Amino acid sequence: MQLRKIEDLDVQGKKVFVRLDLNVPIKNGKITDDTRIQAALPTIRYLCERAKVVVLASHLGRPDGAPDPKYSLEPVGNALAELLSKEVIFVENYTDEPLEQIFPHVTPQQFVLLENLRFHPGEKKNDPEFARKLMQGFDCYVDDAFGTAHRADASVVGCAEAVRPEKRAAGFVMQKETTMLAGLLKHPKPPFTVVIGGSKVSDKIGVILSLMQTSNNVLIGGAMAYTFLKYKGFSIGSSRCEDDRMSLVEAIYRNAEQRKVRIELPCDHLCASEFVEGTAAIPVMDTAIPSGLMGLDIGPKTIEKYRTIIMGSGSVLWNGPMGVFEWKEFAAGSMAIANAMAESQAQTVVGGGDSVAAVNAAGVASKMTHVSTGGGASLELLEGKILPGLKVLAI
Ligand code: AMP
Repeated sequence: MQLRKIEDLDVQGKKVFVRLDLNVPIKNGKITDDTRIQAALPTIRYLCERAKVVVLASHLGRPDGAPDPKYSLEPVGNALAELLSKEVIFVENYTDEPLEQIFPHVTPQQFVLLENLRFHPGEKKNDPEFARKLMQGFDCYVDDAFGTAHRADASVVGCAEAVRPEKRAAGFVMQKETTMLAGLLKHPKPPFTVVIGGSKVSDKIGVILSLMQTSNNVLIGGAMAYTFLKYKGFSIGSSRCEDDRMSLVEAIYRNAEQRKVRIELPCDHLCASEFVEGTAAIPVMDTAIPSGLMGLDIGPKTIEKYRTIIMGSGSVLWNGPMGVFEWKEFAAGSMAIANAMAESQAQTVVGGGDSVAAVNAAGVASKMTHVSTGGGASLELLEGKILPGLKVLAI
């Protein structure tokens, strides 16, 4: 799907509505990680240099359709004002009075930021009336919120549809995300290795089957590995397992056989006797796990096996941690995958969510070809789904 780019939009002297992903973590009114704000800057700067009025909009957290000061975007507005060396006009109420009333008063030294879109029930419902009101007086719509492209929210779909197709475009984050992820999906440099971890096979089945169309190796880790190992007849002790999802594992193996895809499972583990933070890691140097123990990370032999495959790959995609990486005792497997990807010559893409946190914790994010900002959106795109937020920007 080809998207209309922000560079192809005539924004000179225009009033532009910009949907961003400014959903940053805030603790006691302070932003604890401004990655998403930094990512949005190129699009904001590009528009501020050209447009007459730039109005930024985003969600923050899950306030459930009603105002909640905990989720206010005000601290984000202040941070943006500092980064852009501009004054922010922060608009809390934009549903009673039309927003366009303030347009004549916005100077080139100012930009507008709307309070959290999800303070309004119309946002999640894609309420056409909410979208119409919001877009009154705007000439153009720009979406740079890749993280919400899989949600048919009002600011993602309804607002885009409020202007003609040639007046809507994708910002720079959106363009890079779609180019990288779709490119890897369609034309990966072989051998293409997919590293998949996380908690459930059922969450990742779509993405595994989709990626098996072009991948050569699939390396499995995380809790889902134990469902695979049980299917293969190994004892898994008290490890997490989706007993009712064995048919999904069977479908994956059937596909792998047809497409000649190699599936690798852990051959050793770091285990614990209970699922409690601070519990010591007990190494199990065998594929089978004795009863009374649960696998919480891949072991050193598996790390070496996966590392060798990654080093010999032309492209690598990683989604989902190899273990309970939030606990230092079980973070080694995920750190090792991050480091192997960073050291390899392959094209490396980290596909959102917890694996991004792991890559950041390993300090190697800058060594990856691309680190996706969208968790659910990246997964759905890799599954081959058509995301509503991209469909409305298609040429
Ligand atoms: P997901 O959101 O599906 O990518 O899953 C990520 C979560 O899976 C993280 O919170 C991990 O702590 C958890 N996880 C990874 N490996 C295991 C495991 N072996 N047992 C239990 N939880 C795990």
